[in-house]
Amino acid sequence: MKYLVIRDDDLSYWTKPEKIEKIYSPLFKKGIKISFAVIPYAVKMYNPGDFDSMYQDVDTAKPIGENREIVEYMREKIKEGVAEIMLHGYNHLYSLKAGDKLYVATKYNIEYLKSKGEPFSFVGEYMDKYEKLYFKTGEGKRYLEDIFGVKIKNFVPPSNQIGVEGVRAVAENGLNISGIAGKKYDRELNLKGLESYVKRIIFKFKHPNLTYPYIVDYGSHKELAGYAFTPSTDWERYENQLSFCDQNNLPFQIATHYWELEGELLQKYYDFIEKVLSKGFKSAFLKEVLA
Ligand SMILES: [Zn+2]
Repeated sequence: MKYLVIRDDDLSYWTKPEKIEKIYSPLFKKGIKISFAVIPYAVKMYNPGDFDSMYQDVDTAKPIGENREIVEYMREKIKEGVAEIMLHGYNHLYSLKAGDKLYVATKYNIEYLKSKGEPFSFVGEYMDKYEKLYFKTGEGKRYLEDIFGVKIKNFVPPSNQIGVEGVRAVAENGLNISGIAGKKYDRELNLKGLESYVKRIIFKFKHPNLTYPYIVDYGSHKELAGYAFTPSTDWERYENQLSFCDQNNLPFQIATHYWELEGELLQKYYDFIEKVLSKGFKSAFLKEVLA
């Protein structure tokens, strides 16, 4: 079936309802459904999206329940049938990987590593160990279910990074995943998983410039790629991906961040959504598509 899923990441304690209302009221009014990836205990993020100046503050983690305005607003949208709540990590805290050492992504640590001339990269929250992630996933999921009065079905890996232990921790909490990470096989080993991996390899060979567009069923959980709609999106590739999904009756999942949607990009976003719907795609939540 041709479904349009719209995924918006990073809603948290730090989100102002006015921002969500400004972007989404024109879509909500038309009954277009949005699947929000929500961080239960988000730390504050400075300069998001810019890896040259981005940093976090560890002591700023806040439960979303303490922002009554955003909770009330989202509850209303859930009631209206236009918002899905998905789990997006626990606190979305990045690590800095320098050699084989890990540091928390604070301003202090970034400046320290830079001053020593040590190269480092940002590593997402779900590249961690199974036990820790199993616990965090369960707790975050229960908390959001309680706050919003919903059942959560999907997980969106923070920074689109998740390792094999993270996948297991998420699947064992009964969640499907938005996004298909990595080129190598980094999932639990079973026949269904290997079959789908072979399909992915064949697809990549036939269509080197497309992302694997089918729902992947690993037995323990399902995955569906989201196509990033950001200032650095390759629009030609994006259009080709849409054409392929259109011609082959496949779902199309836009993945974006409300905090990036402004000016020209926001207009492009509205236009693109209009276009997809005019091709006969039906607006749906990710939980409906992966059900
Ligand atoms: Zn995120």
